[in-house]
Amino acid sequence: MRFTETFVPTLREAPQDAELISHKLMLRAGLMRKMASGIYSFLPLGLRSLEKVKKIIREEMDKAGGLELLFPTILPKEIWVETGRWDIYGNEMFKLKDRKGREFCLGPTHEEAVVDLARGELRSYKELPKTFYQIQTKYRDEIRPRFGLMRAREFLMKDAYSFDADEEGLEKTYNKIFNAYKRIFKRCGLTTIPIEADSGAIGGKVSHEFVVISEKAGESDFVYCPKCGYAANIEAAKSADAEEENGEMQPVEKVSTPNAKTIEEVSNFLNIPKKKLVKSLLYKIDGEFVLALVRGDDELNEVKLKNLFGGKFISPASEEEVKNLTGAQVGSIGPVGVNVKIAADKRVSKMKNFVTGANEDGYHLINVNIGRDFTPQVVVDIRNVKAGDLCPKCGTPLELHKGIEVGQTFKLGTVYSKKMNAKFLDKDGKEKYFIMGCYGIGVGRTLAAVIEEHNDKYGIKWPVSVAPYEVEIIPLNMSDEDISGTAEFLYKDFEKEGMEVLMDDRNDVGAGVKFNDADLLGIPLQVIIGRTFKKDRKIEVKDRESGEKTLVKLNEVKEFVKKKITEKYNALNE
Ligand code: ATP
Ligand code: MG
Repeated sequence: MRFTETFVPTLREAPQDAELISHKLMLRAGLMRKMASGIYSFLPLGLRSLEKVKKIIREEMDKAGGLELLFPTILPKEIWVETGRWDIYGNEMFKLKDRKGREFCLGPTHEEAVVDLARGELRSYKELPKTFYQIQTKYRDEIRPRFGLMRAREFLMKDAYSFDADEEGLEKTYNKIFNAYKRIFKRCGLTTIPIEADSGAIGGKVSHEFVVISEKAGESDFVYCPKCGYAANIEAAKSADAEEENGEMQPVEKVSTPNAKTIEEVSNFLNIPKKKLVKSLLYKIDGEFVLALVRGDDELNEVKLKNLFGGKFISPASEEEVKNLTGAQVGSIGPVGVNVKIAADKRVSKMKNFVTGANEDGYHLINVNIGRDFTPQVVVDIRNVKAGDLCPKCGTPLELHKGIEVGQTFKLGTVYSKKMNAKFLDKDGKEKYFIMGCYGIGVGRTLAAVIEEHNDKYGIKWPVSVAPYEVEIIPLNMSDEDISGTAEFLYKDFEKEGMEVLMDDRNDVGAGVKFNDADLLGIPLQVIIGRTFKKDRKIEVKDRESGEKTLVKLNEVKEFVKKKITEKYNALNE
């Protein structure tokens, strides 16, 4: 492709609202443009890269036995009512009506659609297993669309759904797709870590998120053990248990703590360390109250708490509800003498003689003890793991990181097939629910993550597999016929060889602009025809990734470039 015949509107500066490097570079390199908040158009070069990510995904999904199909974007309300997700999705779902008033949504995901297909079409165990997948546009009215393609409201997803006859079958299918995911991201040039995850609103049990470590762009907090590789999303992360505290139980005392409400204030006022205090937090889970207790120096994880009760909605109780239930205001509440379900974190159960609110404004209790003064209904892990906590598997101090979730895999089991009554006839002649898995990859987010991982201050450094072109020819002075003629010759020769080549044939810009744009666009190899060519017929080949420059004789350039490209692909396929 000739630069003058394609459309690459590069920008010197990124628009103000782009915070993230990948977002800035995608705009500056003319890969995409914003239409509305979280809604983008792909321009020619961006589209080429996007198509390459799709191609890699297709190849690996097909190899793993996936069958590509395409569901509609517009989905009828009825199937969502069957699973209860018409309401659960809430405002994140784009809803619409047709002229007759029938309700629909723009699909945020397609479990309902695929189960609706399977229950009508897959009848016998003989037809199983089946994995269907599609690459399709999804719609989610995210509360905070940001970071460009990372969290968009309209975005491309590869979503796959598997149907097996039994758990063993699901295990096999899950592993196949899990491995396909590893290859997909590797081939795209991404370094991902599969982390254990909470399966969230989608339901089911086992789940993994594939994350790219990025402290700046990452929105998923996860813990990582540098020794044994244990990795888990903060909502699923565990740490080694705390040790039991020793000592005799002391008599409970009520003490005045005027104006001391937060853990910090109470700790300072009483001169007692935070880890001897217990934080009491009143929550409402699907309409039922739960008092959650965590150690004063810990943070509660709401998702862990919610999942514990199999809840769908969780919110902190209102000030009024707190007052009505405990007789005190937030900051003075505690577990002693309240008539509400209590969930204590495991660490709290190891504590002795601790401090809690007294359920009376301005007062706290000291020397409180579990068993003697109150009894929690459940003792479980509901705290956030922190950096430095010990690994649950090997005891090494854990690290805390942020990651970009580019894909996720779930073992769903029968959650959806039961809700939608989707059954098949098994070997034993009995009807059984399909055992399902589901597997997503954010295509645009993957592309953005690639740029986030591969850039420098000059621009993008594309991995060859997803670069818009493999090589860029840069004739520095088009008015010099020797230079432009050679460029033209190489351009045709490269194309004949099947290479994907872009030639910066602009006549109206100087060498400086061409160099800057080439580094910004980040095509992996630059073939520069200029000064060295005029001097001794040598062509400079620059590797954008390493910055390495090699002088190559004109008649050897094609072979040199071809070899380099092959090496680059091989490195990604290893
Ligand atoms: P997140 O926690 O980031 O919102 P999710 O758990 O809602 O993600 P899934 O429903 O599992 O995501 O979707 C599968 C994949 O689709 C994700 O792993 C991610 O790569 C991508 N994805 C999800 N939401 C968005 C979005 N708003 N914009 C771009 N990609 C997205
Ligand atoms: Mg989401």
